[in-house]
Amino acid sequence: MSSFNFDVITLFPKAFELINNLGVITRALDKNLIDVNLHDLREYGEGSYKQVDDKPYGGGAGMVLKPEPIYKAYESIGKSPKSKTLLMTPQGKVLQQKDLMRWTTLDQIIIICGQYEGFDERIRCLADEEISIGDYVLSGGEIPAISIINGLTRLLPGTLGDPNSLLNESHNSHLLEYPQYTRPSIFRGMKVPDVLLSGNHEEIVNWRKNQMKIRTLKRRKDLIENNKIEYKKIKKKEEENK
Ligand code: SAH
Repeated sequence: MSSFNFDVITLFPKAFELINNLGVITRALDKNLIDVNLHDLREYGEGSYKQVDDKPYGGGAGMVLKPEPIYKAYESIGKSPKSKTLLMTPQGKVLQQKDLMRWTTLDQIIIICGQYEGFDERIRCLADEEISIGDYVLSGGEIPAISIINGLTRLLPGTLGDPNSLLNESHNSHLLEYPQYTRPSIFRGMKVPDVLLSGNHEEIVNWRKNQMKIRTLKRRKDLIENNKIEYKKIKKKEEENK
């Protein structure tokens, strides 16, 4: 039994073969840190055709996943004490690094993947959280599910060779990571900044901190602005409670 179980309800279990070829994640599977249990929705389909979808009431384009097969698949999954169910949908809350961090304290995540035009509305109440991986529409919930499994697994203790690599990462705080270089020190005329070759630890730390700010302001000013709003909110609450 692994310490973290992902149970995925999907019409395309083969899509998850990718997980076995993703470096660090493969290592986590080999070390039994995670288990990915795939529940093939087709097996829970209705009638001799194993029907999983149907036309939408009221008309409209495409097919919608029926509720019965998803409920049957969902009810066949054993739940751990610290389990959460996530529904993949472009209408959900947009996934952030802090969500992945929050979920590391669980021991099971059940992921429901939609397909076609989506799913019957009555599936929503199975979910603790509805998650989108961005403001665009994919053909199914499999790639969003793989993104969650991948992003969360690399945060689990024992997955990464050097856990320190998680410390200063982009999106850990409201700042993006500083620029990184490796050998050679000059490549096609492009030089590694002198400070990184100086061996002066303090100067390197300061340079990196500064670069994080410059980088974020240039590329993702919204991250700093959102954080300020958050900060102001906290201050306001403190004032009110005085
Ligand atoms: N007609 C639906 C979209 C269906 S896309 C709508 O307008 O809301 C088919 C399935 O792909 C969805 O049910 C969902 O499971 C998955 N999907 C597509 N884009 C996604 C996204 N950005 N984040 C998470 N899941 C997504």
